[in-house]
Amino acid sequence: MEALTDQFSLREMLDFMCRRIELIAPDCMAVVMLSTGAILHAGGHGGIPMPVLQAFEGLEASTAGGACGTAIATAEEVVIPDFGQETRWPALRAVACRHGLAAEWAVPIILRNGEVAGSFSLYFRKPGQPDRWHRRIVNACVHLAMLAIEQQRSRESIIRLSYTDRLTSLPNRLWLNRRLNELVARPPATALSIMVIDLDRFRKIVQALGQGRADQMLLELAGRLRHGIVGRDVLVRTEGDEFVVLTTQDATDITHLAERILPTLEEPFTIDNIPINISGSIGISTHQDGQAVEETLRQAYTALAQAKKAGRCCYRFFHPSMNRQADDHVILASALREAIADNRLTLVYQPQVDLRTGALHGVEALSRWTDPVLGMVSPGRFIPVAEETGQIRELGIWSLRVACEQMADWIARDIMVPTISVNLSAIQFQDPELVSQLATILHQTGVPSERLIVELTETAMIENFDQTMTTATAIRNLGIGLSMDDFGTGYSSLSNLASLPISEVKIDRSFMNGFGSTGNVRQVVTAIIRIGHTLGMTVIAEGVEEAEQCSQLREIGCDVIQGYYFGRPMDTSSLDKWISARRAAPVAVA
Ligand code: C2E
Ligand code: MG
Ligand code: MG
Repeated sequence: MEALTDQFSLREMLDFMCRRIELIAPDCMAVVMLSTGAILHAGGHGGIPMPVLQAFEGLEASTAGGACGTAIATAEEVVIPDFGQETRWPALRAVACRHGLAAEWAVPIILRNGEVAGSFSLYFRKPGQPDRWHRRIVNACVHLAMLAIEQQRSRESIIRLSYTDRLTSLPNRLWLNRRLNELVARPPATALSIMVIDLDRFRKIVQALGQGRADQMLLELAGRLRHGIVGRDVLVRTEGDEFVVLTTQDATDITHLAERILPTLEEPFTIDNIPINISGSIGISTHQDGQAVEETLRQAYTALAQAKKAGRCCYRFFHPSMNRQADDHVILASALREAIADNRLTLVYQPQVDLRTGALHGVEALSRWTDPVLGMVSPGRFIPVAEETGQIRELGIWSLRVACEQMADWIARDIMVPTISVNLSAIQFQDPELVSQLATILHQTGVPSERLIVELTETAMIENFDQTMTTATAIRNLGIGLSMDDFGTGYSSLSNLASLPISEVKIDRSFMNGFGSTGNVRQVVTAIIRIGHTLGMTVIAEGVEEAEQCSQLREIGCDVIQGYYFGRPMDTSSLDKWISARRAAPVAVA
């Protein structure tokens, strides 16, 4: 009883009990077997030989698991007066006999809720039945073992509760501290970042709504946040309106996570029919090698304070260079918004030349942006920003319109540019309105549909193939050409190529590096050309800079060439000159 009230662990407690029994009943040995998930393991024991104990370890809590397993499975005591006379469990008995054991008595340990948690066994050196003295000892001990097990379980559930936030059932600050301590002891192998999310002006909300409704709102908020947490990341509610995410994602993915979380916070809540609008701020810090994890946590709070100072509803990285990156992104997005609104983007046109005839096959329209402050910004930088902020729809429609107006102008001036290609983003292919917008633009500019080609990159398709297919088919039904851009990078799916109504395939310019008269690159390019031709498509090679590449491509049957060799992307007046110069003195196509 004393041991029970002391801070002994269950293991120490049961060992102690078994040793005491062996002291007062020297003719026997005591073992407590516990069952977890119907598997037996020793919970405590006295002087029983190790090999016997090992034989019991991992047995099933069933009638196949010796006397202990049977006692647990049946909730009845099992007496084996003589191992020599017994027929069940030959393997177990053999081990026991070899170590001088002759008889066993197993009693189930039944908790007050009726669950059989384990068994209490006495082993005897001589055959025989337990006498009254043994029974008295075991009855007392089974009861004590039951109390010890129950005590241990409630201890465990108290610990579990103390690491759990009562309102949201998320891990709480205590858990976070323990986890951080573990991480200090064993620094993480993967990069670890800490994100602190805090609601803006939460105290005002509590004052206005009362604690009950504020709690309901927090509960719903926790649900929303939990939804966005993926993989091994952990969401913690540290206190009141403060949440922490422990994440192993890289800076880019964390940026995306933060950008997803902020709008989730701003979506209005309705509690008791009262609409509530909130916003939040986020501080992020990435753990640096050799740094204490608590330091990382502190930095995340510093970053949170910065975010609040920067006008709330935003996120800040602690790491200065990351902050700069994130700032760049924000600056770029707002400058782009202005540029689109003020019509400051322009299109340039790059000629595509027919390899057989040397005639102009068409042009590709490419966006250009020169910002008064930022200077020239390449499409490689602003197109991804436009895609992320949703401005790509506007930009895409703008470039379609300008390209078609330009084509109408060429037609009016009788300048022979057979086709114009316009790049569309993956996001636009998911937009059901795209097709009608295309039809309107063609109608308004009077450009025949076969003079327009839209380019899509392979990544555009995997997002939502069905919608891409629907859009692609509708585009083709309008009579517009469809070109698969940058083929050979990314996913290079031949099934995409075969199943979509594609009229033209563009071999990515990366193939031009190392492209020669022999070698693997040449073989791959040859294969793409053959496949394209088999599927009835025009094949264009991009990024051709040298005469040698040109003649090689001709040799393997490529149809059209686009690249600096023939002409860089240029504005309309340069293109006019380029066209008339070629007419005067056609450049040989190698
Ligand atoms: P893209 O559609 O594959 O365009 C071809 C890119 O290769 C262009 O880069 C072009 O300037 C470059 N290029 C052409 N010939 C050569 C060459 O011989 N050597 C080298 N080294 N490069 C060559 P740019 O203009 O920087 O455009 C980059 C990408 O941005 C484009 O790749 C396209 O995917 C995208 N983009 C450009 N404008 C738009 C637009 O209006 N809308 C959309 N959605 N994307 C656009
Ligand atoms: Mg393109
Ligand atoms: Mg391309």
